[in-house]
Amino acid sequence: MISELLEKPLASWQGQERYGNELLTCLTIIFKSAGCTWSKCRMCSYRHERYSVQQTPEHLLVHLRAQLAWISQQYASEEYRMVKIFTSGSFFDPDEIPPAFLSDIATTFKGKLIIAETRPEFVNAEVLSPFMEMLDDGSWSTPLYCAIGLETSSDRIREKCINKGFNFSDFKKAASTAHSVGAGVKAYLLFKPLFLTEAEAVTDMKTSIKDAAAHAEMISMNPCTVQRNTEMEYYWKRGAYRPPYLWSILSLLADAPLHITCDPLGGGQNRGPHNCKKCDYEIVQGIRDYSLNADRDLLFALLETACDCKEEWEYILSSEKSYCMPLTR
Ligand code: SF4
Ligand SMILES: [Zn+2]
Repeated sequence: MISELLEKPLASWQGQERYGNELLTCLTIIFKSAGCTWSKCRMCSYRHERYSVQQTPEHLLVHLRAQLAWISQQYASEEYRMVKIFTSGSFFDPDEIPPAFLSDIATTFKGKLIIAETRPEFVNAEVLSPFMEMLDDGSWSTPLYCAIGLETSSDRIREKCINKGFNFSDFKKAASTAHSVGAGVKAYLLFKPLFLTEAEAVTDMKTSIKDAAAHAEMISMNPCTVQRNTEMEYYWKRGAYRPPYLWSILSLLADAPLHITCDPLGGGQNRGPHNCKKCDYEIVQGIRDYSLNADRDLLFALLETACDCKEEWEYILSSEKSYCMPLTR
């Protein structure tokens, strides 16, 4: 049932997304929810975006339905085929999104290809199956993808540098549950979390892409951006963190065994992935274009671009020293 009330979600926009060999118009929605129940990742500020007072599930449902009503009024359904749903947490967490809201989503977006973000502990067959059944009208062989912020396949890095609170085995289990009911899996990987040198981050991403590809049909790489009110910002302000070089992103995408999408948020800015400022704009644009057209020649051409900062990047890769964390307190 769609509410009569209208309330704007945190954000929403229409854009293009590559799916297989097709370009689809995609509606992206970030719903305001009760917020991420984990809320402890070192680089994340999304977790602050939630209803501030403790909402009862009934109130929450009213708010969410009002946001969905706003979306239905704002975007004509025939204009988009894919819907990406974010909640600044987990779409399938019943404490964050009252389960009744899943029916509203399935009814509103019946026949669309849905990609919904969630932590792995909320991927369960009893929730996914009926949701998919309501959603599916036969338009897609995989009408639903669970998008999971795996970040890295290294449990050590996920725990120490990100504080994500789950293991690679949890991700594998969630992926197998999703697959068992006919849903797909999209893995988000985080490039250059705290406490890693540029070279360590590159090595970790190469391994993570290979490991994640065995369990996910889609992989998206998120290069770190320094968000406000995060632990990452604390270190960045003290000169103890630098976001990744765009050169590293280019070389990772060019080397990857499959097409990886990447939207370098804040690209070219101090808080986002950047080079020297002179060459940033063209490379950020190229990375965005590659996400849509999968044209590797474009990446190779950009990697050949001449800029003074390339030597700096090569020096950083070979000479930066690992973060030294004391083993005892
Ligand atoms: S990254 Fe995801 S799981 Fe971690 S605190 Fe942010 S919203 Fe929660
Ligand atoms: Zn440069």
